[in-house]
Parts: sequence; structure tokens; C-alpha cells
Amino acid sequence: MHEMAMAEGIMDIVKDYAEKNNAVKVHTISLLIGEMTGVVVDSLEFCFKALSKGTIAENAEIKLKNVPLVGHCNDCNWQGHIENYNFFCPHCKSGHMDIISGRELRVEYLEVD
Ligand SMILES: [Zn+2]
Repeated sequence: MHEMAMAEGIMDIVKDYAEKNNAVKVHTISLLIGEMTGVVVDSLEFCFKALSKGTIAENAEIKLKNVPLVGHCNDCNWQGHIENYNFFCPHCKSGHMDIISGRELRVEYLEVD
């Protein structure tokens, strides 16, 4: 239940944000989902809907943005999309790659009343 744990994490952020902003209703939740998280979007939405029932986030619209997996090579400075989780530089074959994006799962913004 990977997605349920993630939905709970999102719900915590939403509740926290709503409290700080004295919100009474959450309209939109925009999420950034990295390619590497392997999240099944339908499943995440389903879990979130179940969790948000009876809360201020009930019936909130969930917007999802996929973040591609991008790596940077420390040896030749190549930067680009990593295909098939192959973490070797396609330019110089180095294994000294940093992940620039694609691991995130976070709330980008919330629209509340
Ligand atoms: Zn390289």
C-alpha cells in the first residue's frame, strides 16, 4: 500500500496548510510526482479520496504533474532524461550521475477558501 502511505502524507500537508491559513475548504491540490516514485496515479487518487471523506479536502480536485527523471553527469556535465533507469551517462558512460529531478512527491500548491 505504497499509495496509501503517500496519500496520508499528502493529507497531513493539506491539513497543516489549512490550519495555518485558517482555510475552511480545500478546492484544488496540485501535486508534483517524480517519474522515479513509481506512483500509480489512479491508486493515489483513490486512496486520497477515501482519506479526505469528511475532511475539508473532501471533493477537492487533484491536479497531477509528472516530473521526468533527469540526471546530471559529474564527469562530462551531460544532463538529460534518464531512459529505462539506466544510471550511466549516455555520453561518457560514467556512473557518477546525480539525480536532478524525478524523485519528488510533493504538494506544489493548494487552493483554499
Ligand atoms: Zn558523462
